[in-house]
Amino acid sequence: MSLLAVAGVTKRFGGVVANRDVTFEIRPGELVGVIGPNGAGKSTLFDLITGFERPDAGTVRLDGRDVTRLRPDEISRLGVARTFQKLRPFPGMTTLENVMIGAFQKTSDVGAAREAARAALAAVGLADRADAHAGGLSTGQRKRLELARALATGPRLLLLDEVTGGVDQATVPGLVRLVRDLHATGLALVVIEHNMRVIMDIAQRVVALQLGEVIADAPPAEIVRDPRVIDVYLGEAWRA
Ligand code: ADP
Ligand code: MG
Repeated sequence: MSLLAVAGVTKRFGGVVANRDVTFEIRPGELVGVIGPNGAGKSTLFDLITGFERPDAGTVRLDGRDVTRLRPDEISRLGVARTFQKLRPFPGMTTLENVMIGAFQKTSDVGAAREAARAALAAVGLADRADAHAGGLSTGQRKRLELARALATGPRLLLLDEVTGGVDQATVPGLVRLVRDLHATGLALVVIEHNMRVIMDIAQRVVALQLGEVIADAPPAEIVRDPRVIDVYLGEAWRA
């Protein structure tokens, strides 16, 4: 039984087809990578799964239930959380307060939200920055904050949009270790990731997108040998 089932999903923005007939499934506890060139429709796919956008065609199912038309807060309460490619913490608020915003998806009790937020901050290694202003965090710390905010909603499925994107090389391994640790707790994860080394390292399966379409869905070792994936994304250098 799949946790998430995306079937025949198409999304247009004016003349642009951001997703075209996209079909794939995520099983409970799986860690799946999503790769593809810029503009391939990766972030839009997350928007469609989490209710931020609605598809023109196709369905999104969670545990077999059709959630295609649900709002983001409803999807969140069903156990799906996501991070955004463009980080947008509230800079004037503390790290803890930012994460509490996530926790309020789950509870309206301030004390319970604070506890959930503290637990999430501890899980991402930011407990010592709880009272710091979010505006003063480094890029790597802001990535962790974004993760904590998602975790505080209590997800079963976590969608990460370029969690290592835009951070310096020295910060990447710590973030990758964190993703692996989260996966080890039983969370299902879908990670949009450009660093193929990271994908090869952590993903059990990889979905490759090109111009909104799924061009491959296979284990990493097969993905990197797929001629179409090499042509549109990995390039000749990788083949060599
Ligand atoms: P990726 O995350 O793979 O880089 P996106 O999902 O962000 O790709 O974008 C896919 C395509 O859809 C791009 O051509 C992008 O310009 C377009 N697009 C995405 N969101 C919008 C939007 N809200 N309005 C108009 N076009 C959009
Ligand atoms: Mg994107």
